[in-house]
Amino acid sequence: MDTFELDSKYVAGTYKRFPVEIVSGKGSVLTDSDGKNYIDLGAGIAVNTFGAGDKDFKEAVTGQLDMIQHTSNLYYSRPCTELAKILCERTGMKKVFFNNSGAEANECAIKAGRKYGTDRRGEDCYTIITLRNSFHGRTITTLSATGQDKFHELFRPMTPGFVHVTPGDFEEFKSVCENNKIAAFMFECVQGEGGVVPVDADYIKKAAEYCKQNDILLMVDEVQTGNGRTGKLYSYMNFDIEPDVVTTAKGLAGGLPIGACLLGSKVENIFGYGDNGSTFGGNPVSCAAAVSIIKRIDDKLLDGVVRKGRMVREALKDAPGIESVTGLGLMLGIKTVKPASEVISSCIEKGVLCLSAKDKVRLLPALNIPDDLLRDAVEIIKQCSI
Ligand SMILES: *Cc1c(COP(=O)(O)O)cnc(C)c1O
Repeated sequence: MDTFELDSKYVAGTYKRFPVEIVSGKGSVLTDSDGKNYIDLGAGIAVNTFGAGDKDFKEAVTGQLDMIQHTSNLYYSRPCTELAKILCERTGMKKVFFNNSGAEANECAIKAGRKYGTDRRGEDCYTIITLRNSFHGRTITTLSATGQDKFHELFRPMTPGFVHVTPGDFEEFKSVCENNKIAAFMFECVQGEGGVVPVDADYIKKAAEYCKQNDILLMVDEVQTGNGRTGKLYSYMNFDIEPDVVTTAKGLAGGLPIGACLLGSKVENIFGYGDNGSTFGGNPVSCAAAVSIIKRIDDKLLDGVVRKGRMVREALKDAPGIESVTGLGLMLGIKTVKPASEVISSCIEKGVLCLSAKDKVRLLPALNIPDDLLRDAVEIIKQCSI
């Protein structure tokens, strides 16, 4: 049996896959099992920060593998400690809890939010506000946080303690805070899975200010927007706000599983011994990879992200079949006249891999994608959108 047949026989049917088997890659060019090449505009859903087979990434990973692959959290470990230090220095946050995925990082943030609220304002202060159209993960509790009903339907009852509000409607936000005991507000600055929808900057500022005045934790889900994706190290840095909790995952380790929950000064000591844990959390190979990735996300790279994002927008501006482009930096959502799925399928035939988000074609390329590849790929998207 070939891989397609084996997969449909043995792998749980949760993914509607494209008929492509990727076997290798170099930078932003991937090769399938038939030897066909593709320009990669998805980077494994914003994971392969510097593309495939990146030299520094491989050296960091293999260097650590030559030492030891895993130690457990019973002992000290340099890569995890060093990563925590770099993340705190680059964000002003105070402490980091490591786990293995975006959903887990958000679970940790939710625990921090509940403990902070109940410690300070009584046992009924545990509710967390999230936004409609948000996405926070696939565990039952992060699904409950997710403000999209379609994710809730099959798995009720949802975890209690979440209220969803409409992004941009500050009056509603305020009124929910005034009429309920609210521990925290958690949101994405650009709603990724929700269709690459940026949240209104003025709303973010007002909500952040309100949270500060009312001792409500401000928690930013940077799982998709983080690690340079939007042209800043973390997307909240575009909005002149100071979050109390930041979660990150996807691109942090450049292709290996990792999640991190960054805790600011209000919550740096929220967890004591035994209050949270993770077998693989802080894994030295993932952390060594992440250290090498974060060190390379400097101003020069970030300027490149902004410039490349602008280049894509300009190339798509007023193009036939393109209705609009949304997003920030190299996190872009393209609304096409044709259904996004049709555009994505024709792109695959022509050797370009794009993602989707709701009704949009979504681009999350490696941050170092060469200009010529990006230009060629966008030309193909244009052709496929007519
Ligand atoms: C992908 C994503 C998650 C979930 O991350 P996993 O690693 O799949 O658990 C959470 N929040 C946002 C904003 C995401 O984009």
